[in-house]
Amino acid sequence: MPTKIDAFEFTRAGRSAEGCEPLASLVRLASLLAEPAGELVWRLDGWRQRDASNNEQMVARLLASATVGMRCGRCLGVVAIPIAIDRAFLLVRDEAEAAALDESEDDVDVLVASRQFSVDDLLEDESILALPPAVAHAQCQRPVGAGAAAASETEAEEERPSPFAALASLKRKSTP
Ligand SMILES: [Zn+2]
Repeated sequence: MPTKIDAFEFTRAGRSAEGCEPLASLVRLASLLAEPAGELVWRLDGWRQRDASNNEQMVARLLASATVGMRCGRCLGVVAIPIAIDRAFLLVRDEAEAAALDESEDDVDVLVASRQFSVDDLLEDESILALPPAVAHAQCQRPVGAGAAAASETEAEEERPSPFAALASLKRKSTP
């Protein structure tokens, strides 16, 4: 479901767009997840404003949120991670303008606008940036590491009645 907007018209008219994107359709993002289940809910607002020198600026603000399933670094199970995006971008007409602006203003995020601006690419880029570099459960359900796994197996065996004992009791019951 490719979502393209005319970024010039979008900001000139002060438009908004919103949607709900299945994570599975954001292929680059989905490839980083343990399971691509769920949706990214998003809203994009565009407007124009004047900077201190009275130059017109095009601005786009992206709000998005999702809960993604990432792989736990300890037990390899799935951890549900909520991600929330709230970023504003200055839109520029070309790469040269972007380079000039990047140099003059460090803390401004710059995007090159186009008449076929891909909202999907923006959603994908920003949600990938919003992923934590590594995740782990606060408390893993599964045993951690080989040593712990062996220990918990021993415990489980001690709690469980021996299959031979169970068989023996069955035999006793069936004996007349
Ligand atoms: Zn875990």
